[in-house]
Amino acid sequence: MSKPVKQHLIDPEICIRCYTCEAACSVQAIEHDGVNVVVNFDKCNFCMDCIAPCPTGSIDAWRVVNAPYSLADQYGWRELPAQTAFADTASEADATIEALDADVALLLAEAHAGAGGKAKAPRSATKPTINLYTLTKPAEATVQGNYRLTADGADNDVRHIILDLGGQPFPVLEGQSIGVIPPGVDADGKPYLPRLYSVSSPRDGERPNFNNLSLTVKREQRGVCSNYICDLKKGDKVRLVGPFGATFLMPNDPKARLLMICTGTGSAPFRAFTMRRQRNGADEGASMTLVFGARTPNSLPYFGPLNKVPDTVLKKHLVFSRAEGRPKLYVQDKLREEQEAIAELLSDPNAYIYVCGLRAMEKGVEEALGGIAEGMGLQWRSLRDAMREEGRYHIETY
Ligand code: FAD
Repeated sequence: MSKPVKQHLIDPEICIRCYTCEAACSVQAIEHDGVNVVVNFDKCNFCMDCIAPCPTGSIDAWRVVNAPYSLADQYGWRELPAQTAFADTASEADATIEALDADVALLLAEAHAGAGGKAKAPRSATKPTINLYTLTKPAEATVQGNYRLTADGADNDVRHIILDLGGQPFPVLEGQSIGVIPPGVDADGKPYLPRLYSVSSPRDGERPNFNNLSLTVKREQRGVCSNYICDLKKGDKVRLVGPFGATFLMPNDPKARLLMICTGTGSAPFRAFTMRRQRNGADEGASMTLVFGARTPNSLPYFGPLNKVPDTVLKKHLVFSRAEGRPKLYVQDKLREEQEAIAELLSDPNAYIYVCGLRAMEKGVEEALGGIAEGMGLQWRSLRDAMREEGRYHIETY
């Protein structure tokens, strides 16, 4: 069997046929007919010059393939083909994907259940790659850095972990998760199952166009995988599966407004969303609002860097439940305080709501949003269900 290769493609469902990518390509790898815009595998040199000018993100599509798709294949597409599983034989791939898939699908379904029904991706979201690496064929990453994000005295140890994927293609979108396989075996002598972690860097990497990504991991007392990750040293090797998740994604529309509500490591996907927009030269008119809850400023991950993001890009509400000399405030209290602005977002068909973090936050957040909707004379359940159907209401709690 031939060695797998990474292939650059264009998503025909999102592409608006403006041909800016074709003009930006210095090696004439991009061409079009009356229907599709396509990439010639033999000519593309991965220079990435075409990525930034694309107004829709459709240019940022990648597949790992045994045999590259031809121009004729691509001209015939109405949508991108799914990423096929990667393993030496089809049956091996099927078996490992089925086993892992069932576990991950269950975890994700539980994590997304709070949205009240079957989650849907935003219509303009880039199509994600999923299940590229499996238990029998994991990717191997090298730890590039492990930095503590919370103050030394804080009661939570949250880490920013940077993983380098070397030459292995590992395409992830903001909002997706990856699985980390902790070494060792459980009480029954079986290898540990992977744990899921949200990627906290944008799709072009923690460092732009380097094949790396970051995670935001909280050390759980006696937790197998979180302790393993939080103790990793530079140069250590880590086995990864995934990527996973096809719905908790950001819209490609740069004008879409995002309300992001989180606690603790729930901030991970929102760091990725914010960096994506910043690197794309965030449109100052396209607002992003973050409501982020922690016990104290010392225990809020990314407190320093967050405060440096300009308000024109990200409106920040950092909310503390145990800060000295201040009344206890939770994210739902802040939503109520800001009810006018939240109501305005709820009535905007181009606004998206994302909630991520501790499962315990779900009820309070939903009650607050529900109260604000009812105050506008809207029936919350119908509004929430309609937003979810349009890929505009997302919950990921664990
Ligand atoms: P486990 O060993 O699986 O233990 C689970 C829990 O049981 C822990 O809380 C541990 O404290 C407790 N426990 C274990 N052994 C004992 C014992 N002997 N006595 C008492 N208690 C015990 N986490 C993040 O930090 N960052 C993320 O970005 C992130 N994203 C996620 C995204 C999704 C979609 C999902 C589903 C989960 C995410 N998680 C994230 C949670 C993560 O997957 C793990 O569940 C978490 O790190 C705990 O795993 P662990 O192996 O350390 O704990």
